[in-house]
Amino acid sequence: MAAHNPTSAVRVRFAPSPTGELHVGNIRTALFDWAYARHTGGTFIFRIEDTDTERVTPEYIQAALNTLTWLGLDWDEGPEVGGPNGPYLQSERLHIYAEWAAKFLSQGDAYHCYCSAEELEKVREDQRKANVAPGYNGHCRELSSDQVAAYLAQGRKPVVRMRMPDGSTTFTDLIRGEVTFEHKFVPDFVLVRADGSPLYTLAVAVDDILMKVTHVLRGEDLLSSTPRQLRVYDAMGVNPNDYPLFAHLPFVMGQDNAKLSKRNGETSIAWYRDAGFLPEAICNYLALLGWSPGDDRENVTMKELTELFTVERVHSSPAKFDIKKLEAINGDKIRALPLEEFFTWAMPFLTRAGTIQGSDTEIALVKAALPIIQERIVTLGEIPGLLNFLFVKDFAIAEDSREKILDEQSKQVLTVSVQRLSGLGEWKHEAIEAVLRTALIEELGLKPRFAFSALRIAVTGSHISPPLFESMELLGAEKSLERIRAAM
Ligand code: GLU
Repeated sequence: MAAHNPTSAVRVRFAPSPTGELHVGNIRTALFDWAYARHTGGTFIFRIEDTDTERVTPEYIQAALNTLTWLGLDWDEGPEVGGPNGPYLQSERLHIYAEWAAKFLSQGDAYHCYCSAEELEKVREDQRKANVAPGYNGHCRELSSDQVAAYLAQGRKPVVRMRMPDGSTTFTDLIRGEVTFEHKFVPDFVLVRADGSPLYTLAVAVDDILMKVTHVLRGEDLLSSTPRQLRVYDAMGVNPNDYPLFAHLPFVMGQDNAKLSKRNGETSIAWYRDAGFLPEAICNYLALLGWSPGDDRENVTMKELTELFTVERVHSSPAKFDIKKLEAINGDKIRALPLEEFFTWAMPFLTRAGTIQGSDTEIALVKAALPIIQERIVTLGEIPGLLNFLFVKDFAIAEDSREKILDEQSKQVLTVSVQRLSGLGEWKHEAIEAVLRTALIEELGLKPRFAFSALRIAVTGSHISPPLFESMELLGAEKSLERIRAAM
């Protein structure tokens, strides 16, 4: 990777916790982070928040790296590329969090809490009954040394809790404006578990400061964690003027207006990749989901996105994910591909589906066939199904199409077609079409839709196929006639 020479001080980070495949919401966040960094000439940092060792796996981490790479969201600092503020995996920074936690303890900003899980549950239960906001009741805030000694004698292992002062926290969110949190709803929170492992709030806040992050653009689900992060900054001794600015991006909703999840739509980017969506289409669509370039264009290139992206133009209301719109954009992007590129995208789909093995003859045929389907597909995943008829060894007509050509008239279409085509000198789609139109439409007076549908089924095995005459040309005279005869 080329050395990164930022032209501005803006530093933005994307910091997923890879406890699964990155989903649509994560990627929209990553895209906006990236776009903002590129727009400002700043730095895009990729940090992996993998302190939840029970749920994060090396596979998910690798998948996250692959997904960003696949989407073209290149990062300037982070895994694989390194950078001056690393390491960029939180699991490699545990000593840093431990040092800060120790400092907070010694400063009195944090304290050891010995409450057991049962005791905390009891507190919650009482709070429920009394109808007061749930949260830690401050039991261990001021323990005497005798009480501490007693707890230790019982073998209790403490967590480290941050002391939340009375009052409230106010900050200006770049999307939502001024936001205030009353601390009575932000109880003292855990920074370090009893086993010594750090919690998200500690690690994220420490890293954002140490990595000199200037702008935190992230999902709105994290809005309520902000006052806790600001409290950590404060304990770190950071001047409030140097706090990162926050922008909480609105949720991506499903069509049913519920937050997008597996239940109401496919959410994993891997699914979209495997279904044959182009990264550019996904980025294009997600860019316009919750952000607008200032006009009503539906197509935006990555270059335009980086030129035009500003946080002010991010909407504050939730955006609805509409796969139909994504499909439409994907179709546009596929049509816009130069043939060579289309071929490169198509090949893995054809080989993975077993449509072709990869011989030179097959590849030549694929190259000849791609132009006739490029106009009509919405996803790359449709390619094997559409081109299979050209390569299949044991040709058979699909179950649901077979019955459509059982009638007498279909038989007539096929019979006449074989007769007329057998003598055809040049097997080119124009010639095939001319002969068939004369014979079937003009002479027999059949409706084109009917006549050509019967032929389509006979030749391609399905009533859905690429354009008929081009398909026949590609398949060749011998195979085409053989199939029509067999269908008769
Ligand atoms: N690691 C957090 C998550 O994936 C996000 C951290 C952040 O953006 O502040 O939910």
